[in-house]
Amino acid sequence: MSAQITDAVTMSAQRPPYQIPFNRTALAGAEPDNIAAAIKAGQIVGNGEYGRRCEQLIESLIGDGRRVMLTTSCTHALEMSALLLNLQPGDEVIMPSFTFVSTANAFALRSAVPRFVDIRPDTLNLDETKIESLIGPQTRAVVAVHYGGVACEMDTIERIAFRHSLDVIEDNAHGLLGAYRGKPLGTFGRMATLSFHATKNFTCGEGGALIVNDSDLIDRAEIIREKGTDRASFFRGEIDKYTWVDLGSSYPPSEILAAFLFAQLEAHEAIQSIRRGIWQRYDDALRDWATANGVRLPTVPDSCEQAYHLYWILLPEPEQRTRLVEHLRSLGIVAVFHYLPLNLSPMGRCLGSKEGDCPVTESVADRLLRLPFYNDLSESDQHAVIGSILDFRL
Ligand SMILES: *Cc1c(COP(=O)(O)O)cnc(C)c1O
Repeated sequence: MSAQITDAVTMSAQRPPYQIPFNRTALAGAEPDNIAAAIKAGQIVGNGEYGRRCEQLIESLIGDGRRVMLTTSCTHALEMSALLLNLQPGDEVIMPSFTFVSTANAFALRSAVPRFVDIRPDTLNLDETKIESLIGPQTRAVVAVHYGGVACEMDTIERIAFRHSLDVIEDNAHGLLGAYRGKPLGTFGRMATLSFHATKNFTCGEGGALIVNDSDLIDRAEIIREKGTDRASFFRGEIDKYTWVDLGSSYPPSEILAAFLFAQLEAHEAIQSIRRGIWQRYDDALRDWATANGVRLPTVPDSCEQAYHLYWILLPEPEQRTRLVEHLRSLGIVAVFHYLPLNLSPMGRCLGSKEGDCPVTESVADRLLRLPFYNDLSESDQHAVIGSILDFRL
């Protein structure tokens, strides 16, 4: 054999049998037509027709009387919530350490201090029994992150918040269309945020929304979203010129993104039904293996209708996760870990947190793995993922 042929044979022998990413974006169908329509209408600035339609659709999905404002990201919606709370330097906000950076960063930008609470070992949501020990004279708010779209224990969190006059903010990046005791996630906090980032159930690449559940905050939220101006009142004809009246920034997404997002939101039933199927297939196929090997799988309490955002497995040892990731990668399957504990991050330490503050988080973060999960994950690809896991010797 010539050297070239030998190379080709070796390479094909080494090529992994699958190509299954962790995530990718699937079109719901109408995205290109919606974008073309927005372009044809000649208005691609924010707050256009598709933007309004997205907001109204979300409002109707979570129930009347809520005000939804699209933003350029969930990060920006969290920043809006921090501005709306009028946080002062040194104010403290309680939140899980096991969350995305933006949950903390949005408040730190206002010079507030994140106080990290540990998570429950079952749902990986903030441990409501550990909130009260962190409350002090500077505490202003609690941020509930519904991990994987499975609700936090909102009854207890609301009771604690009421007792100590704290605001509740929901970082509901994972949980649109989930519910707790029949009530939609995103309607518990004084404000809640959504993400339409490419990794989330419904996406426009980069996007988000602020849900304002306290009507007293709506006017100021509009001002903050419009660069600190009263432009929203101006466009409604309530005033004859607009000007700078408060702090703010530029948070509305372009109509092009809203047009994309509207196609995804309109397909919410189909998308959630697909995701429910994927989640359930993982769960059915892995339960016995997990029990036999001491691997933990997601817990969904009876009080929660989950939003089917992700499927995680929790291995007994970090070293097993490393080997499983490598095993899957050698077959062309990408499984990824999740949040690094914020209390161990350089910024977290700089703001006063330290190792040992959140022992469950610190232990889980090294052992958790998320499996490929996206709207057009085929059954055969999912079977390949499942088979490859079942073949793995822990
Ligand atoms: C994705 C995510 C965010 C940030 O969302 P962006 O839209 O990317 O800004 C915030 N919080 C949580 C819990 C997330 O998962």
